[in-house]
Amino acid sequence: MLEHIRVVLIETSHPGNIGGVARAMKNMSLRHLVLVRPKVFPSPEADARASGAEDLLAEADVVDDLESAIAECPLVIGASARKRADIWAPLDPRAMAALALGQAQTAPVALVFGRERTGLTSEELDRCSHLVQIPSNPDHASLNIAMAVQVLAYELYVAHLAGAPRLAEGQSEPASAAQMEGLFEHLRQALLDIGFLQPGREGKILQRLRRLFHRARPDEREVNILRGILSAAQGGKSMRAASGERRHSEQDEAS
Ligand code: SAH
Repeated sequence: MLEHIRVVLIETSHPGNIGGVARAMKNMSLRHLVLVRPKVFPSPEADARASGAEDLLAEADVVDDLESAIAECPLVIGASARKRADIWAPLDPRAMAALALGQAQTAPVALVFGRERTGLTSEELDRCSHLVQIPSNPDHASLNIAMAVQVLAYELYVAHLAGAPRLAEGQSEPASAAQMEGLFEHLRQALLDIGFLQPGREGKILQRLRRLFHRARPDEREVNILRGILSAAQGGKSMRAASGERRHSEQDEAS
């Protein structure tokens, strides 16, 4: 299960921190590191700080955008020191570990960490299905990134030692990050088409709808039904049809 969990670092500035993250991961039996546009990598400083976890660095995936780091993941958890109390209820690290390990029995799970200076952007947080926050001093809330990875990796490891949480009977696989993004883009377009949203003023409503659908964790079939409804509301205009994909319909559901 732990092998299904990937740690994603976005635009890390200091190569030493990347090494520190690799070390923290290996201590807790995590292996899959994904680096999104690291400022300096590979680097002797990263190797030095990894002290024995250079193999994780050698195997790390380096990618250009968050989208490709998380595309096939049905569960994407963003780590943030900052509260976004208006729409997010962050998980604590223990609850995060239970959720992540449950999902990791069948599918890849991403834990996403932000930049040392500025953390995650709100667009990046929008890509996450959940948020985790390590409780800390409100006057000095932000941990060093490798320390934050250490705390969360520790909770995952302890949960792993305690045994696998069982999946609920009949529970189906939630849709992947890429499928959810397809739904959100379709939703945005349909809400514009039917005049519910005004161009340029979609922000907050779409953010709330994202949260709503992430909470519901629909599976692929449910996403297809929702998109079929959106296409119907658009007057039969299907975004998939436009891009040459299969049209959603009741026949799809029946097949
Ligand atoms: N100054 C930045 C903090 C960046 S620390 C900010 O205000 O957002 C680098 C990364 O470590 C963060 O983006 C986050 O992913 C992680 N991190 C640091 N402290 C954390 C905490 N208390 N809870 C969860 N993640 C934390």
